Amino acid sequence: MERVHGTMVRAAIFLFLMAVPVMFFLCLPRAEAAEFAGAWKYREGGAFDSTDAQVLQEAWLESAMRGDAAWASYGFPDHPRLSSSSVRDIWVTVRLRPDWPEKNVLLFSLAEQSIRVWLDHQLIYSYGSLADASHAGGSRWHMIVLPELQREVQLTFRLHANDVWQLGYFNRMQIDTEAAQLRAIYLNDLPYLVSLPVALVLLLLMMGYYVKRIAWRRLCAAICAFLVFFILWLICALNMKYIFFDAPAFWWYMMTGLEYLFPIAANWILYELLERNLKPWAMGVIASYAALFFMAVAGELLGFSGMERLMPVYYILLLLAEPVAFIMVLTSAYGGNPYSRAVLIPMIGITALGALDALSWYFSLFSWSSFVSSLGIYFFALFMLGMLHEQFTMEKRVSQRAIALREKREKVEAQAILDPLTGCYNRARMENLRERAIFQSEQRGLPMGMMILDIDHFKRFNDNYGHEMGDVVLRGFAEVIRENILPEMILIRWGGEEFVVFCPACPLFTTAAFAEVVRGRVMSAVLCEKQQVTCSIGITLWQGEEDTAAEMFQRADQALYRAKESGRNRIAVEL
Ligand code: GH3
Ligand code: MG
Ligand code: MG
Repeated sequence: MERVHGTMVRAAIFLFLMAVPVMFFLCLPRAEAAEFAGAWKYREGGAFDSTDAQVLQEAWLESAMRGDAAWASYGFPDHPRLSSSSVRDIWVTVRLRPDWPEKNVLLFSLAEQSIRVWLDHQLIYSYGSLADASHAGGSRWHMIVLPELQREVQLTFRLHANDVWQLGYFNRMQIDTEAAQLRAIYLNDLPYLVSLPVALVLLLLMMGYYVKRIAWRRLCAAICAFLVFFILWLICALNMKYIFFDAPAFWWYMMTGLEYLFPIAANWILYELLERNLKPWAMGVIASYAALFFMAVAGELLGFSGMERLMPVYYILLLLAEPVAFIMVLTSAYGGNPYSRAVLIPMIGITALGALDALSWYFSLFSWSSFVSSLGIYFFALFMLGMLHEQFTMEKRVSQRAIALREKREKVEAQAILDPLTGCYNRARMENLRERAIFQSEQRGLPMGMMILDIDHFKRFNDNYGHEMGDVVLRGFAEVIRENILPEMILIRWGGEEFVVFCPACPLFTTAAFAEVVRGRVMSAVLCEKQQVTCSIGITLWQGEEDTAAEMFQRADQALYRAKESGRNRIAVEL
């Protein structure tokens, strides 16, 4: 429940962040209409191959100014209706009124066309070659500062295109103040500019993750590819790019190529996320996009403008394949795959933004041709955060399990050397501990003392009050010993109700003194309410190199035996 809550809070924050630029665009007032006067007219041809090209051009400009019947009206901003598909040259003209002197900047976008612009007879703008427009392959903005107008003038455009598809089509022609036009250009770039840093940060994050992790590397690679395509696409979409590199054809090829590659990378991400049984579907989707991409490139290389001509097929494929991808992800998400759930966010978000763009393009919602699809990166960021969160919780779970396992193992190991009833070392560690105590004693040049402690008549506690009471007495006995010896002394349960204590660096009198203290404390402690507990203690010393463990134990045992013999509840020494 808490997790769902956290996800919702994060989603709300991101939606809010994203809504700010979207609302900004939606609330912007639309720019004023341009002050064009009268109808837009056009005239086909006019390439003028003859030597008198200059003279003919002047004649055409003259006829435009006169409003000659050779010029046909058309419904600007629609395409002029061309007589045949072989037309490559067209002239377009309109009258311009001096009503708005401050609105002196013309801004429009042309795709794949070279252009000349005149005011009456004065050439005011020129872009590209009128013989070959191939360099101007993609779409490009043109911003023209008009001279100050004293009277109505004729604005005439001469356009040349390599094919008829775009010929004569101006995208978003406007006359406005320079500030407004610059704002229009900037506004077009804004969604891309606010998306670019996010994409870069996500890419760095993913690259860092890719370098550090072994698991999920293929998913990381897919996400990195998607982000790289996305960043390049953002750059292609910027108007500003022309400041740095004015090559529309290059940008067009790059942008179109990226559009083909995008769904490949996006569905590759899905492929990595989906369950095994769904993977073949994802692979099918990827393969169809890849096939289309190769066909488009081959078509382009063979000179059929494959990349442009296959675009309708590309859109049909999008309409067919994306629902398939969506159903796959939904299936997987319903099956409980947290990654699929996370990926639904950018899938739905980006689709919604795309739909908004399509609507805004169709109904001209915004003041300039701004598209908000790029803000989908914020949804993508949400997905990545969700995914990384899932990764981290999984890793945490794994490491918690590892810790639990280690603790369990340590406990098992401890059980192997500790006596479960009393918590003393058990006999298994005896030899080890004895050697350590001897080593410590020799280091300090002192003897090592040893005692064997045995509860007197212990059998009676068992017999009279039950085995459980016997256990209680045993535990209490071990506790009294532990509390009354030094920390470096080693307490071992030798077996039954017999305990051994090694006393490193303890001469006989020290060992005996401790033994006496323990004996006294056992007697005074109430280990069993019904009967007093006493013990007997046998003491010996390690006699150096020539001594053996067996002999030492024998001596201590002998001493214990004597203590028992002479009436119990006492200590005895055997050297
Ligand atoms: P003594 O004074 O001569 O040492 O007499 P004792 O009864 O203490 O000696 P004995 O060795 O005959 O009896 C030891 C008893 O300790 C026998 C066994 O039933 C009991 N015993 C051994 N281990 C445990 C244990 O872990 N728990 C309990 N409750 N009894 C144990
Ligand atoms: Mg005994
Ligand atoms: Mg005993």
